[in-house]
Amino acid sequence: PDVPVGSVLRAAVRRWGDRTAFVHHDVALSFTELGRRAHAVAAGLAARGIGRGDVVAVHLPNCLQYPAVYYGVLLAGATFSPTNPLLPPAGLAHQLADAGARALVTWEPVLPVVRLALPGTGVETVVVTGPQQVADPTAAVDLADLPGAVSLADLLAADPADAHRDADLDPAADLAHLAYTGGTTGVSKGVELPHRAVVTNVLQSACFTTGSVPALDAEGDVTLDQFSDPAEHPTRLGTATIINLTPWFHAMGVIGYLNGQVLSGSTVVVHDRFDPVQYLADAVRYRVTSIGGAPPVFVALLQVPGIAEADLSSVRGFSSGAAPLPVPLIERMAALVPGVVIAEGYGLTEVTMMATGNPPHTSGIRKAGTVGVPLPDTEISIRPLGGGDPLPAGERGEVCIRGPQLMRGYAGRPDATAESIDPDGWFHTGDVGVLDADGYLAIVDRTKDMLLYKGYNVFPRELEEILFGVPGVAAAAVVGRPDPEAGELPVAYVVRRADDAGAALTAESLRAVVDEQVTPYKRLRDVVFVDALPVSPAGKVLKRELTARERAAGG
Ligand code: ATP
Repeated sequence: PDVPVGSVLRAAVRRWGDRTAFVHHDVALSFTELGRRAHAVAAGLAARGIGRGDVVAVHLPNCLQYPAVYYGVLLAGATFSPTNPLLPPAGLAHQLADAGARALVTWEPVLPVVRLALPGTGVETVVVTGPQQVADPTAAVDLADLPGAVSLADLLAADPADAHRDADLDPAADLAHLAYTGGTTGVSKGVELPHRAVVTNVLQSACFTTGSVPALDAEGDVTLDQFSDPAEHPTRLGTATIINLTPWFHAMGVIGYLNGQVLSGSTVVVHDRFDPVQYLADAVRYRVTSIGGAPPVFVALLQVPGIAEADLSSVRGFSSGAAPLPVPLIERMAALVPGVVIAEGYGLTEVTMMATGNPPHTSGIRKAGTVGVPLPDTEISIRPLGGGDPLPAGERGEVCIRGPQLMRGYAGRPDATAESIDPDGWFHTGDVGVLDADGYLAIVDRTKDMLLYKGYNVFPRELEEILFGVPGVAAAAVVGRPDPEAGELPVAYVVRRADDAGAALTAESLRAVVDEQVTPYKRLRDVVFVDALPVSPAGKVLKRELTARERAAGG
């Protein structure tokens, strides 16, 4: 449907009303109150001259205020540009300037960083909220004498009735999000996503998680209706409860764990940091219906003592995305809750969030080790790495995606845009993948993580899958160690499980297991045991940090 993102909120408010939309630190917010606050924020921004075409940076951790700020920005007709609240001053300054942000909504505890970042950016208005305002949105905040600063409470005091400012937007042209890629492999780039791309991807991903058909209601707002057997879908409309710790500043967070949940009438328990013990306690306490996040979430939960005895009988589904989900990990998760549906999505910031899903919305048949089939209206083709015609099923190449959820381009980087989107509209992802005869996609690895050993390609993920299958291994990542003769040698970083099997692991035993299963050039040359792997806020293993460590050791 060609409507602005604000229509998702309007529909949810009408349909789900007094049901609880979000809970944070035991404070509940209904859909009705979320709608009221979002419209007030929109009116408050408009009163300060912010509207269509303006970029508003949102520099907040996950908190109860976030959803109202998000929809408020969009209802005002402005563009939402999220930033990671843990960015250092230089990183924040760069992103604010790159995005051309006119306003910034931020968090009282990070104001010292914000103050250092602001000079030289185009930010005129700074809106501040903080931990005190979770329970009481009118509580005073310390604006730290920042020029142009107001409190979010001031915006919330505006008349919420006075706002339907997104009515004139052109969903195909006006930007809803100016999102930044995760920066896992390099410099983070601004991704331009019009309202149409965002609404489409919210609906595509909701089809996948809820088995629903999207429609427009009498008011022109989007709605969902469950059409297939709800038992197959962990998210039953209007009945789901989940904990969210995926950052809302990341694609998976804002589409899957904000818009998707709002549209389907779920209750979201907000966690602002990942504490696996607390997560498990809340999963039991709130009787969550599904557990979702990036693979490290499951790695950590499986390590919590007593998880096997926890009452997870309310859980119908696990959902994962953002990084590879090793098959042995899927098996361990499945053993935790009998009959649970394990769903995995694949995507990138450049396709708003999601391009394929597993099990598919169509047949419900999951193929472990794959990321499923394309979402509705989405095409996948596999091309040779250097470019060329599509490859047949079974052959490895670069994953290319075409669909209505594709970005317009990288902000201010026409060269990068032209390099990644070809004239036929195919986006080249930089991921290596393979389609099977049924059209299921498997991600082999990222091209940037691939190792070159004496001219042979080694895909770390193949070795990681084997390592994850070894009893006692909690997590593993394989990177290249520079070698003058071979180029790069495969080296594994391994986290032991806190049990006897973990204690018994040795570098030799792990190398022996891998050696048995791979062709000789792929053999591990070393194993380094570590307490934890470095991960990004979105839950991706930061291999560049491990690679840097290897380079430093070698040099
Ligand atoms: P940058 O592109 O700046 O390095 P990033 O890659 O972290 O940042 P995102 O858009 O967050 O930016 O991540 C997209 C990437 O995540 C994909 O290209 C793919 O490599 C990986 N990914 C996402 N989902 C999956 C999945 N289910 N299985 C394997 N990999 C996945």
